[in-house]
Amino acid sequence: MAVRVVIIGGSSGGLAVARELRHHLGADRALITVSATEPHFTFIPSLTRVATGTRGVDQISLDLAPALASQQVGFVQQRVVTIDPDRKLGVIGQGEYPYDFLVIATGHRSANEAVAGLGPFDGPGHSPMLVTGAVELASAVRALIKEPGPVVVGAAPGASCLGPSYELAFELDHLLCRRKLRHRVPISFVTPEPFLGHMGMGGAGKIRQVLEGAFEKRDISYPTSAAVTKITESAVESRGSGPVPSILSIIVPPLAGVPVVAGTPRLANLKGFIPVDSHCRQSSLDGVYAVGVAVALAPVEETAVAVNFPKTGHMTEQMALIAARDIVARLEGHEGQTAELSARCLLDMGDRGIYLAVDPVRPPRDRIPTVSEGRRWLLVKRAFERRNLWHARRGRSLPTSVGW
Ligand SMILES: Cc1cc2nc3c(=O)[nH]c(=O)nc-3n(C[C@H](O)[C@H](O)[C@H](O)COP(=O)(O)OP(=O)(O)OC[C@H]3O[C@@H](n4cnc5c(N)ncnc54)[C@H](O)[C@@H]3O)c2cc1C
Repeated sequence: MAVRVVIIGGSSGGLAVARELRHHLGADRALITVSATEPHFTFIPSLTRVATGTRGVDQISLDLAPALASQQVGFVQQRVVTIDPDRKLGVIGQGEYPYDFLVIATGHRSANEAVAGLGPFDGPGHSPMLVTGAVELASAVRALIKEPGPVVVGAAPGASCLGPSYELAFELDHLLCRRKLRHRVPISFVTPEPFLGHMGMGGAGKIRQVLEGAFEKRDISYPTSAAVTKITESAVESRGSGPVPSILSIIVPPLAGVPVVAGTPRLANLKGFIPVDSHCRQSSLDGVYAVGVAVALAPVEETAVAVNFPKTGHMTEQMALIAARDIVARLEGHEGQTAELSARCLLDMGDRGIYLAVDPVRPPRDRIPTVSEGRRWLLVKRAFERRNLWHARRGRSLPTSVGW
């Protein structure tokens, strides 16, 4: 009888697990079902470009149903409302889906409530973390171009996804320069990090110097160890320092697990993230795996203001391969291989890019991180977006040596 695998999440993590499983197990050996809340896969790293108006959501999205059907993977566009690990059952919408293996790739819930006034829909602050937020931010950027004024970009205490806040600071600077408005828009970057480029992983090589140099060259001020507490129509307030004037405030929130994960007994930690072992198996529930942003990863160190460990797209893909190959190995009666996570990231600066490679992500590292800046990395990032979508449409795996 075919093994039943239910995958919750139709984004980078869930799709990579489905692809890898199907690569090893034909339709006669595995019945694979993916559930996602949206009908589309969206290439999330390009949401910053949606926010700055250089990309439309339709240009970075594809329909999941035909893409998965071509891989003989079932798709249910419904929210998983209950996970019952004792009965090995997922309740998706109205239907019950028994599983032998459950892979959870549900990403995050933005904990916007951590900062008073961080909207986007119920406060003046903006966040690029979801498609809806990026689209709403794009209209706020258009309003800024009509009526320029001070801008604050940054992250809240406890944030872990700091890359997009750097990208937005750079991309806005570039956009405003092109429009010859930059002199009318002071930009501040407020971050909980103890120094630029900490990124929740304790920094890496010369990334700090590269980012500080770039911010200084572009006249972006950067208060560090800042604990943003409140966003108003005219300022961003931080604990222990005066308000920074801002008519457009973009703050990356701390993340939490999605409700169905956070609400399932014994599945997740207090923040709603799932503790896993080196095979990406949930620590105590048989047959349950987690990959990507849904996984609990402890911070590397205590900092004056909390900064959490990053969970990048590249790391998500590595976790997906580990989990899928472990399932295949277990079906064959042995253990899957494990590997320490590395990260290769591409940072969009609007007119150029930064390539950062760290191996392993979590210090201490036995290899010197690579940090490189130049226009070529921007072109690589843009090409990667197209390549990622092309591969997602055809159910093909990306070589993990490519940066994200
Ligand atoms: C603005 C932004 C920019 C980024 N830029 C980069 C970058 O440049 N480089 C990089 O490496 N990483 C980047 N990242 C991080 C990267 O996008 C994530 O690591 C990656 O998206 C994680 O994939 P995931 O599958 O774990 O979760 P997600 O992409 O968040 O997907 C979660 C999936 O779960 C589904 N889901 C959630 N709850 C349920 C439910 N109850 N039932 C059914 N389905 C559910 C959703 O529909 C979705 O399909 C960025 C992140 C953001 C937000």
